[in-house]
Amino acid sequence: MAKVKETLNPFEIAREQIDRAGKKLNLDSGLLEVLKSPRRELTVHFPVKMDNGRVKVFTGFRVQYNDAIGPFKGGIRYHWNVSLDEVRALSCWMTWKCAVMGIPYGGAKGGVICNPKEMSKDELERMTRRYASEISIIIGPEKDIPAPDVYTDSQTMAWIMDTISMNKGFAQPGVVTGKPLVIGGSLGRDEATSRGMMYATREAGKKVKLTLKGASVAVQGFGNVGSHYARLMHDEQGSKIVAVSDSKGGIYSEKGFDPKEVLAFKEKTGSVVGFPGTREITNEALMELEVDIVAPCALEGILTSENAPRIKGKIVAEGANGPTTPEADDIMHKRGILVIPDILANGGGVTVSYFEWVQNLSEFFWTKKEVDDKLEGIMVSAFNRVWEMRETKKVDMRQAAYMVAIARVVEAYKWRGIFP
Ligand code: GLU
Repeated sequence: MAKVKETLNPFEIAREQIDRAGKKLNLDSGLLEVLKSPRRELTVHFPVKMDNGRVKVFTGFRVQYNDAIGPFKGGIRYHWNVSLDEVRALSCWMTWKCAVMGIPYGGAKGGVICNPKEMSKDELERMTRRYASEISIIIGPEKDIPAPDVYTDSQTMAWIMDTISMNKGFAQPGVVTGKPLVIGGSLGRDEATSRGMMYATREAGKKVKLTLKGASVAVQGFGNVGSHYARLMHDEQGSKIVAVSDSKGGIYSEKGFDPKEVLAFKEKTGSVVGFPGTREITNEALMELEVDIVAPCALEGILTSENAPRIKGKIVAEGANGPTTPEADDIMHKRGILVIPDILANGGGVTVSYFEWVQNLSEFFWTKKEVDDKLEGIMVSAFNRVWEMRETKKVDMRQAAYMVAIARVVEAYKWRGIFP
């Protein structure tokens, strides 16, 4: 990657984003400091028996950022680059995400420093169960509800649900979301982030006069979020998927391809690279393609002051959390690119997590259509709230989303007061 001038520390970026919106909202400096600080941070170092008989110590985190509006909520990430500052940033973004979507949660996030690609399923299970035990002192259906994130999935959630339930002595489905259906998962949760992104992209398309039918789309990251997004844009909107990528590289075809076939290919070979009829491109080049929609769906620090001047998409839909630096935001805003910020664009995931939790607490399950219809309603209203803020305050979409979210959390503080 070329040299970048600005900070790529995600928590510094998260704090700057709050400052920017706080200034526009004329927030009191004391309150601003509250919003810029995580409420509770748990770091755990714990042993796991590896398959070779040796014991390895892992480090994990759970940061509970803010619960002014409701219980803490947010995913758990397994990645070799997890750090406390990354988890802090992700928990901070969860706070604004839940607030901008208008769902009754605060924000949290967890992470374990590990390389899941080099671990066996048994090792992952033992690590997950021990990590779940370590954080069990602060999580629970009424306190803090984890969910999947990068390199964790419904299997991970099932192990956590079982670990917590075994210690309680009875099943506790509401302790995590993103579970398999048979133990209390919700229909539509697996594709929810991407379906929500599709609705947000459709609404953005109306604003910039871009018809999604036939629009060209490049998707960086072909994991849970990117692969479902590519499929839904292709199958339900008739868009042309011209490029997708994973950690091994990307593929491009001007004619476009069916992302379902690419997924089947990736499941067989381990990567999208080499899919017949496409040429190989790098992850960096994918972002700069001449396309209508660019969707970064992997990790942070993808759009910086270095490449923002070369982005050609009309719409950037952030499936990833924190892919864009504040400097890149300014550059793209000046260049007339509509960025749908992460806390809005990928808010469909936590929204259906909320539906799952409600279904668990009420022990009554909804049809897929009910889930999708309610998700669509929430995505469209959240998009319009942010758009209206953008129009009235003449700010970019990220600042508008932060202003909507922060104003909501501030209102909660106004009612609750500062304890004692
Ligand atoms: N990890 C997802 C996110 O970043 C989902 C969180 C949740 O469902 O709690 O939004």
